[in-house]
Amino acid sequence: MHETSIVNSIMRTLELEFEAAQLHKMSAIHLKVGILSNIEPRLLHNAYSAYHLSDPTYQHVALHIESTSLKIQCDICSHITDVENYRFICAHCGRPSKNVIQGEEMLIHKVEFIDD
Ligand SMILES: [Zn+2]
Repeated sequence: MHETSIVNSIMRTLELEFEAAQLHKMSAIHLKVGILSNIEPRLLHNAYSAYHLSDPTYQHVALHIESTSLKIQCDICSHITDVENYRFICAHCGRPSKNVIQGEEMLIHKVEFIDD
């Protein structure tokens, strides 16, 4: 399953990024998931719950998923437009653009830790 490998790669990324002592105090993971990323937040939550069944180390860590909107940047005037209804047209000059700058990505936006 697609989402399972995404969860595995998120946890691996965090384990590379932070020291074990720090990971021990991790309380929440915030993800940004673009609407064109082919990732279904509900399935990602399910995969995250399933992950803890085999490895309960981080079962207390909350997962927050924020869906990011689709934005394009115009090649002609550099204006950034929020795409609605898949209309890839610059709101400033009216020219079509396929230059997507947000909405295709999946990234770890923020990690929270318990203060001691
Ligand atoms: Zn434009």
